[in-house]
Amino acid sequence: MLKPWTIAIDGPAGAGKSTVARLLARRLGYLYIDSGAMYRAVALKALRTGVPVSEPDAISALARAARIHFQMAETVGTGEQRVFLDAEDVTEAIRTPEVTALSSSVSAIPGVRSALVAQQQALGVQGGVVMEGRDIGTVVFPNAEVKVFLTASPQERAKRRHKDIVARGNQATLEEVRRDQDERDERDTTRPVSPLLPARDALLIESDGLAPDEVVEEVLEIIDRRRRGG
Ligand code: C5P
Repeated sequence: MLKPWTIAIDGPAGAGKSTVARLLARRLGYLYIDSGAMYRAVALKALRTGVPVSEPDAISALARAARIHFQMAETVGTGEQRVFLDAEDVTEAIRTPEVTALSSSVSAIPGVRSALVAQQQALGVQGGVVMEGRDIGTVVFPNAEVKVFLTASPQERAKRRHKDIVARGNQATLEEVRRDQDERDERDTTRPVSPLLPARDALLIESDGLAPDEVVEEVLEIIDRRRRGG
C-alpha cells in the first residue's frame, strides 16, 4: 500500500485555505488539521486568564499546558470539526473578533510556536494529513510531499472573511475587516519567527475567481502526477 502523504496548505487569512484543506482531506480520506485553531485556543486561554501578550513567558507556559484536540462533528460527511481546549468545546469561542486579533500577536511568541509546532508534528507523525496554516510547509512539515501556498488579492480575501464573519452572527463592516486583515498580514509576514512565506518548493495558487472545488481539483491532479513520478 502507498504510504499516506502529508499535504501542507499555507497562505494568508481569507485565501480559502480552510475550505480547500477540508475538501481535500475528505477526497483523500485524510485527517484535516487547522493549525490556526490551536493559536486561537491559546489566545482564548490568555484572554480568559488575563495574561497580557507583554508577558511572553507566561503565555508560552499557557501554550505548553493547553490540551487542544480536534473531533469530527456529529454531522458526518460535512467535514466539520469541533475544537476542544482543556476538554471544553471552544469551536465558536475561538472565532470572535477579539480572539482573532489576539491570535496573531500570541503566534509571534517563540515559546508559543515551539509548543504548538511540537503538538502539530505529533498529530501528523503517521502521514495522511492535510494541515493548513502559515508555516506548515516551511517549519512544521518541511518534508511534506505536497506543499501549496494559497493566496488571493487583499480585497477578495477581505470580502470572503466579511461574509464568514456575518454568517457567524458577528458584526463588522468590510472596511474594518480589511483593516484588521492588513494588520494581521503585516504582523504575520514580518515577525522574526516563522514569518508567513511560501516554501521554496511550494506550488503557488492564486484563488481569485476560482471556486474551492477548482482549487481542490488542481491539487488532486498534482498529487496524482507526483504519485506517478511526474
Ligand atoms: O488561520 P487562522 O486565521 O485561524 O489563524 C489565526 C492566527 O494564528 C493567524 O493570524 C496567524 O497569526 C496564526 N497562525 C500562525 N501559524 C499557523 C497558523 C496560524 O502563526 N500555522
